[in-house]
Amino acid sequence: MRVGVDIGGSHVGVGLVNSNGEIVKIHEKYINDKTEDTMEEFILEGIISVLIDWKENENIEIHEIGIGAPGVIRNNEIVSSVNLGIENFKIGEEIQKRFPDMKVKVMNDAKCAALAEKKWGSLKDYDDCIFMCLGTGIGGAAFFDGKLIEPKRCAGFEVGHMVIVKDGKECKCGGRGCYERYASMRHFKRDIREKLNLEESVDGGELRDIIRANINSEEVQKSIDEFVKYIAVGLTNLVNILEPQVVCLGGGFVKYEDILFDKLKETFKNSKDLFYKEDCPELVMASFGNDAGMIGSTLIFE
Ligand SMILES: [Zn+2]
Repeated sequence: MRVGVDIGGSHVGVGLVNSNGEIVKIHEKYINDKTEDTMEEFILEGIISVLIDWKENENIEIHEIGIGAPGVIRNNEIVSSVNLGIENFKIGEEIQKRFPDMKVKVMNDAKCAALAEKKWGSLKDYDDCIFMCLGTGIGGAAFFDGKLIEPKRCAGFEVGHMVIVKDGKECKCGGRGCYERYASMRHFKRDIREKLNLEESVDGGELRDIIRANINSEEVQKSIDEFVKYIAVGLTNLVNILEPQVVCLGGGFVKYEDILFDKLKETFKNSKDLFYKEDCPELVMASFGNDAGMIGSTLIFE
């Protein structure tokens, strides 16, 4: 059996995933209940304790462990993750030491989610396609001729850090004018809160309800218009270069489908910057929710 691990900003999820991509067993550990001294220990403990329990107490045979983590991943190491606040964490090696008989692989979480969409979700019928994860930051992956584009030197496809505004807003990566400083869900939510004078703590379903209740207000419309324009700029750049058949949008954006998706489709389709205006690829929503990373991390082995 394969185990998929999803490491997020708020929790570590460990799941047993069958060959149909179904999670048949799951264990989640939340950062709010953290007792370990460091984030690294919290993550390792969260994974190792579950694997030992399943192996020894439930006799589950685990052959492969795929780990999806946010940030820059190289050779099974989390080189840096701003969201997790960790650097140079050799997570693959640590897990491998404890379970020498299992295969262990680590990949960027947005790329894991993309693998799940490609195999079983919205991208399954396409050879040339792009997955974009619009959340706190922006991540993604691209497939060409059915295969994930994986450069040899490093993982690549850091779409969130393509520059869309020269000398623009400062980004956590050290650059300026990065796509995710303008088109991430974090940015949109911040803008809405400012425009509607809401507290920083207003988030999730509460924030969405407030937006829906004020959807016709000039301020909210302005914010939505501006936001989808920025998403469309990045999409247009990627489409002009890669010419995918379809682009799939996932991450926190999915929860805002009724608020943002139609407007985005219209803005993108009418973008004057599209090179082949008459042949614009379709935009689709991701079909897996929060489970995409966990399910997809078991596909790193294929
Ligand atoms: Zn950046």
